Amino acid sequence: MIVGAGLGGLVAALGLQRHGVPCRVFERAPSLDEVGAGLSLSPNATRVLIALGLRRQLGRICNSPEALCTKHFDTGEILTLDESVNYEEQYGAPYYQVHRADLHTLLTETIQGNDAQAIRLNSDFVGFESRGDSVEARFADGSRASGEVLIGCDGVKSLMRDLLWRPGKPHYLGYVAYRGLTPVDRLPEGLIAPSSATFSGPGRHFTRYLIRGRELVNYVAFAQRAEWTDESWFVGAGIDEVLESFAGWAPEVLHIIGNTQEERCHKWGLFGRKPLPRWTRERVTLLGDAAHPMLPFLGQGASIAIEDGFVLARALAECKDPAIALARYEAARLPRANETVEQSAAQGERKHRKPGPGDTIHEFLQTRLFTYDATSVAV
Ligand SMILES: Cc1cc2nc3c(=O)[nH]c(=O)nc-3n(C[C@H](O)[C@H](O)[C@H](O)COP(=O)(O)OP(=O)(O)OC[C@H]3O[C@@H](n4cnc5c(N)ncnc54)[C@H](O)[C@@H]3O)c2cc1C
Repeated sequence: MIVGAGLGGLVAALGLQRHGVPCRVFERAPSLDEVGAGLSLSPNATRVLIALGLRRQLGRICNSPEALCTKHFDTGEILTLDESVNYEEQYGAPYYQVHRADLHTLLTETIQGNDAQAIRLNSDFVGFESRGDSVEARFADGSRASGEVLIGCDGVKSLMRDLLWRPGKPHYLGYVAYRGLTPVDRLPEGLIAPSSATFSGPGRHFTRYLIRGRELVNYVAFAQRAEWTDESWFVGAGIDEVLESFAGWAPEVLHIIGNTQEERCHKWGLFGRKPLPRWTRERVTLLGDAAHPMLPFLGQGASIAIEDGFVLARALAECKDPAIALARYEAARLPRANETVEQSAAQGERKHRKPGPGDTIHEFLQTRLFTYDATSVAV
């Protein structure tokens, strides 16, 4: 039983299906429509998606950047330019940029194609009971379900995490992220070159790349803010507010923000929780943001959740005793996930210093992140 149909839960489900292990995903939402924008998937994640048999479909919905660059925040001058990016050659798998909704749809359709009943919507998980060699999950509508293991993939506000460990509130980490989508045909011709760029300035940075057949510019604009007062974690944001936050920045940045699709600009408060020393109790465990929410400065939250999902599926397929399988999954995954939580926070510090080439991912870190192979790592 998997609680939560985010990217982590869906990859776990598809991984289990591919290994012939029956599973159900319980999602609280009444439908699978996604609020979302762009997502970058590094080779450590695309390697997993390819192993799940999705290479051809990914080729249809994803873009691979032909070059990566950093630009000066107010002059727009190129500071670093890497035109020799060939991730496939260097790391054995591609680097993709994609609309999160497109990847989500691909995963749900593939899972439902294998088993039409695999995803149960309107299933708001409220509690569980361990019963020796089974676990019973309870839902807000009074329904119950039981299975051999229960996996909490219920995101950064995870109830499963609170039930397993000490209840705690996620804390605001001092950053807001504005995310928006801008149609390329609203922008001056030739503005978006190369297809992927980051602008770093004191206290703020702006990342943009092309998605959906290169017709949309996806951007994430980060700014430090002392507090977050909205009740919700993400709210609609006015374009004027984003423009004001980035006043004086390079014309390219202001053009992109100023032409954001109406209703397509959102503001997120970035929240985190202390890394856990353990995830698993007997037949219940955590996965993805529920286990290890991280700041998005290395673009690894979804990628690490995708790795988790595949390793969990391998552990359950390879080990007959479910409790031992979960312990092996945790041993294989926890050190890597918690290290990435720390490194993501450190990257935030680096990025918000004075602009300069030092804010790109350090080569050593990149190699460590991108070469990880969830399909063969010891479990
Ligand atoms: C600004 C920003 C930019 C980012 N950019 C990137 C990027 O470029 N690359 C990258 O890899 N990552 C990125 N991330 C991180 C990434 O989005 C998350 O780490 C990832 O989506 C986590 O996936 P998940 O499946 O663990 O959780 P989620 O996607 O949060 O899914 C949790 C699911 O559980 C469901 N749920 C919750 N509670 C219950 C319940 N009680 N009962 C039933 N269902 C429940 C929810 O409805 C949801 O569907 C970014 C994050 C932010 C904020």
